[in-house]
Amino acid sequence: MSGMHYDAVIVGAGPAGVFAAAELVEHGKKVFIADKGKLISDRKCPIVNGQVKSCVNCASCAIVSGWGGAGSASDGKLTLTTGFGGNLEEYIGRPELLSMIEFVDNAFVRFGADPHYYEASGEMAHDTIRRGAQVGLRVLPARIRHIGTDASREVLNNMYEDLVTKCDIRMEAPVEDILIEDGRAVGVRLTDGAEVRGESVLVTPGREGAPWLEKIIGKLKLPIASMPVDIGVRVEVPDSVCESLTREFYEVKCLYNTPTFDDRCRTFCMNPSGFVVHEYNQAHRLVTVNGHSLKNKKSENTNFAILVTKNFTQPFSDPIGYATHVAKLANMLAGGSILVQRLADLKDGRRSTQSRIDRGMLEPTVTAQPGDLSLVLPHRYVMDIVEFLDALNRIMPGVNHGDTLLYGVEIKLYSLRLELEENLAVPSIGGLWMAGDGAGVSRGIIQAAASGVVAARAICGE
Ligand SMILES: Cc1cc2nc3c(=O)[nH]c(=O)nc-3n(C[C@H](O)[C@H](O)[C@H](O)COP(=O)(O)OP(=O)(O)OC[C@H]3O[C@@H](n4cnc5c(N)ncnc54)[C@H](O)[C@@H]3O)c2cc1C
Repeated sequence: MSGMHYDAVIVGAGPAGVFAAAELVEHGKKVFIADKGKLISDRKCPIVNGQVKSCVNCASCAIVSGWGGAGSASDGKLTLTTGFGGNLEEYIGRPELLSMIEFVDNAFVRFGADPHYYEASGEMAHDTIRRGAQVGLRVLPARIRHIGTDASREVLNNMYEDLVTKCDIRMEAPVEDILIEDGRAVGVRLTDGAEVRGESVLVTPGREGAPWLEKIIGKLKLPIASMPVDIGVRVEVPDSVCESLTREFYEVKCLYNTPTFDDRCRTFCMNPSGFVVHEYNQAHRLVTVNGHSLKNKKSENTNFAILVTKNFTQPFSDPIGYATHVAKLANMLAGGSILVQRLADLKDGRRSTQSRIDRGMLEPTVTAQPGDLSLVLPHRYVMDIVEFLDALNRIMPGVNHGDTLLYGVEIKLYSLRLELEENLAVPSIGGLWMAGDGAGVSRGIIQAAASGVVAARAICGE
């Protein structure tokens, strides 16, 4: 590949990179994609496979790195409504975002995603919104397509089979640097020293690549705007608590301002009959919590995250450092793993024990250390979570029962948000574009993919 000259060089084969490549080749462009991870068939996490109990820091993390990016290890829940999953609307406006969502969604279906989608509308949606409003809960109607973690891998693999015949793809190829000449991006250098040159460079390294991107941004002195961090827990309840809503809408998205601290909380990533999972953050050497649901394997529990959003003010400017510090406390107390606590134990100020959890209504869907989340989360977060669960009880009776399980901690690090032009070009450097989660443009599969298409179309028009 050294010596070759491409129209576009893409860093990262997550949804943003893959959809950008597809759009570019559609316009007859010569494209090179480098990803530090492996192909989907080779992405095997030793913990998920039961070979080891805790993270062994693989050279590339199979969960978040490789073809399809974090998208292929994700639940494949496509949010087909504006207002969720990122900030792309701020760049391209709502009508264009809606049309992008439709474009990207159609492509997912063409490559094998389930054509059925869920929509929160009709009498039941209105009733839920009304009951929520009575306790200050904003219930947001959304349209959702659920591919499922297992089927997601198939869909993204189908995209690989299609693209591999149309562009050059190099996996297990970490990009070390972006080559800049005369104020213009002219290619990338891989860690093995190979240089790949192109007219344009599109950087889509996802959250996994954010620390690498941070260094590049520092080196190129690119302007950034700081972002908030989300810290919270994953809640697990019996399916029956949410079933009347999830059967109809699949996922219920709610916003709430807590009475005591006036903090903004939201529900996130609801998984009916799903599984709580460990999420390994290689860059920060952390284990946090996430959740997914599979198309072909079901549990009897529903899980979702409660996230508290905080914007830090001067002089503090390291929200990622703060959130990872909290997550590390949980890992410290849980012997390198995650913590689980019954809601009643959290309220009573005592740790959970295995026998108390065993006596409860729920069988946990993941291995976690019973403990005390109040030793990990600041008081403010604990209060926010308890108050939010009490409000949610209005639309999901039983969600604040004592046996409800809380897993900690779940964090979302979005800290870096670059100043980009409307078409996602980097203003001060010619031929350089950024898209997806890593640049702070998106927070989910659909907007990541759509942002890749936005950048690709702009590259074609340049
Ligand atoms: C467990 C889990 C569940 C999720 N569930 C959902 C869900 O149901 N619905 C939803 O919408 N979103 C979900 N998400 C989020 C979603 O996966 C991301 O928003 C999306 O994948 C972001 O796409 P991206 O292309 O920006 O980055 P990513 O998907 O993170 O891809 C970035 C790629 O860049 C590569 N890379 C990074 N740095 C370099 C480098 N220096 N050189 C070469 N390659 C590099 C990485 O290996 C990676 O493959 C989930 C995420 C996780 C982790």
